[in-house]
Amino acid sequence: MITSSFDGQKFDVVVCGAGSAGIAAAHSAAKAGAKALLLERHGFAGGIVTAAMIHTLDAIKSCVDHEVEVVGGFAAELIRETLALGGAATTDNPGEALTLHPEMYKVAIDRLLARAGVTVLYHANVCGVVQEGNRVTGVEAALRDGRARIAAGAVVDGTGDAEIAHHAGARWNLDRDLQSMTYHFRLGNLGARRTWSEWEEILGAAMKAAHAAGEIKVFGGPWIIRLNDGEISINSTRVYGNPVDPVELSRAETEGRARMLDIWNILRHRVPALKDCYILAGASQLHIRESRKLVGAYTLTEEDIRTSRAFADSIAVGAWPIDIHPTNGYVGVHPHKDDAPVPYEIPYRCLVPEKIDGLLVAGKPISTTHRAHGSTRVPGTSLATGQAAGVAAALAVRAGTPLRALEVDSLREALLRQGARVSAPAKSAA
Ligand SMILES: Cc1cc2nc3c(=O)[nH]c(=O)nc-3n(C[C@H](O)[C@H](O)[C@H](O)COP(=O)(O)OP(=O)(O)OC[C@H]3O[C@@H](n4cnc5c(N)ncnc54)[C@H](O)[C@@H]3O)c2cc1C
Repeated sequence: MITSSFDGQKFDVVVCGAGSAGIAAAHSAAKAGAKALLLERHGFAGGIVTAAMIHTLDAIKSCVDHEVEVVGGFAAELIRETLALGGAATTDNPGEALTLHPEMYKVAIDRLLARAGVTVLYHANVCGVVQEGNRVTGVEAALRDGRARIAAGAVVDGTGDAEIAHHAGARWNLDRDLQSMTYHFRLGNLGARRTWSEWEEILGAAMKAAHAAGEIKVFGGPWIIRLNDGEISINSTRVYGNPVDPVELSRAETEGRARMLDIWNILRHRVPALKDCYILAGASQLHIRESRKLVGAYTLTEEDIRTSRAFADSIAVGAWPIDIHPTNGYVGVHPHKDDAPVPYEIPYRCLVPEKIDGLLVAGKPISTTHRAHGSTRVPGTSLATGQAAGVAAALAVRAGTPLRALEVDSLREALLRQGARVSAPAKSAA
């Protein structure tokens, strides 16, 4: 084994994965005074929002009232920075979905992390943890020049798949009824100008006709996101499988690309305005909606969301509907936006593994039921739980306190000082 020149380095907080949760965690930990390291396997940050071409930050705003913002702090800074770079997308996307140009978004993240003093290593694949008994004391990573063991006062798992929790032996769940994965792609050279809702209607009708004619077995949406008038991003392919099985994920990636070609062929033959369209780009990875979910000190349920239950240790606010993509061959747009919840609270305990110390899990795999995960999995909420994890890690390291014993009032106060929202609007924690 070749040892990296980075081997033996020590940080207060090591964050694994630079998706929504990881960037927020690393930035907020550094802002809270920690020496922070962020490790990301791609050559850029943003996670699914950039790598999988989502371009959209759902759950920054309430779905019941688009005027109410439920996530502030790092997310607000990031949005401001991206917009200042000219990263606003065309404005006629859905009201609750904030769409940003992925390249400006990547640059904005780089700048915010640099300004906060975070050490960022791209092309860094975290492949294990260092442990003393039940306590995680560092990580092992495959870097460009070899393997490194990096010591950490606390580790934040922002991998989107609870991969670090898995390495640490923390308990996690993988649902039997996993939501589909999707390969996003972008079409250019459109022969007409339409709004997003017009495109959704036109493409939806073409896809339904193709399905009825036996040209495609299953599709979702299609949901359209537009950066500019001349192009559309399409969320429609449906691929099933276990995303944490290396063989199944590889097969799924291959299948996702094949389904992209099927849909492109259907659209250019069935929609006159798309007869000359071409594929501008496919995502650099399949989107994984659901994989491992941590079993934490508390598991958030659908009832907690529906009743907007108040938690004394609330550290983030969620707002997205319980959006579970069907697995039963359903085609088209599944109903989910009609009964969006009012903004609800997420307790710190959802980030704390049941038994493992020295580790917090943020973002998509926080401890929830399958139904609650349908709402918490989106980037707005991941940015918020990431910020909470970063600040918690920094405070615990400074105080020499185990993460599970952290005094939650100080955590909530520190988050409020960073501009984060920790309580649902018009609610006080019980
Ligand atoms: C098909 C699909 C469609 C979606 N559509 C939308 C939408 O329209 N609007 C919306 O708002 N949300 C959408 N979402 C949800 C949303 O994008 C994600 O759920 C959210 O981004 C999850 O954030 P995260 O930070 O937990 O994980 P991710 O964004 O997945 O980030 C994880 C990061 O960790 C890195 N990583 C993983 N393992 C390692 C490792 N071992 N070492 C180093 N780095 C590692 C990854 O490369 C990645 O950068 C969609 C999701 C899917 C799957």
